[in-house]
Amino acid sequence: MAEQFMSQREKCFKIISNFKFRKINRLLSSGEVKWRCTVKTCRAFLKTVGDDRTTEQSLNHNHKSLSDQNLQKQLVTGIVKRKATEDICTKPSKIFCNGIKNIPTV
Ligand SMILES: [Zn+2]
Repeated sequence: MAEQFMSQREKCFKIISNFKFRKINRLLSSGEVKWRCTVKTCRAFLKTVGDDRTTEQSLNHNHKSLSDQNLQKQLVTGIVKRKATEDICTKPSKIFCNGIKNIPTV
């Protein structure tokens, strides 16, 4: 139950060469996680498995990459927006997340 809750809340972002990718919450049947470019009209994606091992990628963006400054701005506004709308990736859940990961498995 708790795990399900966590996985739904663990929607996060990845930055690859100044392009921003958003995690698709639903696991693929292969067990891979899909990441999509945050630009809706762009078809770039990548798939990862386990500890972020990339299994497949298509990084042909149809737009410019973000400058570092712009990226920073986007990340900040993104966090604020998510806090307001979905309450995802907030600090408390991250702390909770880290806490779980730090518990040694017996
Ligand atoms: Zn793109």
